[in-house]
Amino acid sequence: MTDAPAVSFEFFPPKTLEASFRLWDTVQVLAPLEPRFVSVTYGAGGTTRELTRDAVGTLHKHSGLNVAAHLTCVNASKAETLEIAEGFARAGVTEIVALRGDPPKGEGSFTPHPEGFANSAELVEALAGTGKFTIRVGAYPDPHPDARHETSDVDWLKRKIDAGADEAITQFFFEADTFFRFRDRCAKAGIDAPIVPGIMPIENWAGIKRFAKMCGAVIPDWLDRAFDRAERDGRSDLLATAVCTELCTQLIEGGVDKLHFYTLNKPELTRDVCFALGVKPEMKLEHVA
Ligand code: FAD
Repeated sequence: MTDAPAVSFEFFPPKTLEASFRLWDTVQVLAPLEPRFVSVTYGAGGTTRELTRDAVGTLHKHSGLNVAAHLTCVNASKAETLEIAEGFARAGVTEIVALRGDPPKGEGSFTPHPEGFANSAELVEALAGTGKFTIRVGAYPDPHPDARHETSDVDWLKRKIDAGADEAITQFFFEADTFFRFRDRCAKAGIDAPIVPGIMPIENWAGIKRFAKMCGAVIPDWLDRAFDRAERDGRSDLLATAVCTELCTQLIEGGVDKLHFYTLNKPELTRDVCFALGVKPEMKLEHVA
């Protein structure tokens, strides 16, 4: 029996009042699992700058959780980006997930702002230079669409760690071996910072498949066939829990002790998988006495 992993959860900032209630419900369900941190994304193209700031501030003030803010280089000058980071620090939020970011939908490839950071490594270096932040970065076990050659993703992660990042969180992937091969290549390249697997519980297979194609996550045939069958039989919830629990179990058996869940602000599947992995709310003595 392996130890239960430490977990963290990713949320996106709500755009409507109803979505705010859904996020708060999600936090209520997952907070008892005592995550290492929860993080709030920054919309593609920098589109949720204020919403991210507000959600981060509210969670920091009212949830009692350790909150990390995502920050990207897109559509902002260096000064503006660093001012957003300083705003987080002033509010007491000192953990940042630093990313190059994707452009807004339909805009093709990333083009740096004329006065902005040219890439993620520059952003990490600037944030690290302030001495104020714990910095996490993205990592790509399946090739990122912008990878220029086989070692690009490992080389680039090394640059970000050397620039001052403390930890990496991976893009989601579907097979544990994909992660293990990447972890081995990172170790060979001298990367010794923790690399935390990013786990995507599959709420909606069609949606996840679209997302996987966009971000380069390889979709195994067996998984596609399994969801086809499960959807026909009305059993995709059961399959989603089993597949995600099995992936996490294999990762833990392979030495992983931290997992980061992309919750998409829907807590049930993440909670069920965490329970299956032995991540359960601490039963306080006063509640049972
Ligand atoms: P980088 O590491 O900068 O680049 C990704 C890959 O592209 C590299 O591994 C390398 O192969 C290649 N590459 C990039 N630049 C160069 C270069 N100059 N020369 C050679 N090769 C290069 N997006 C958002 O908009 N908002 C978010 O909140 C958000 N959160 C995320 C959280 C996590 C954990 C992850 C993994 C991704 C997230 N993303 C988010 C998506 C991310 O912005 C995209 O994947 C983006 O395309 C890359 O950003 P990065 O900083 O991870 O990549």
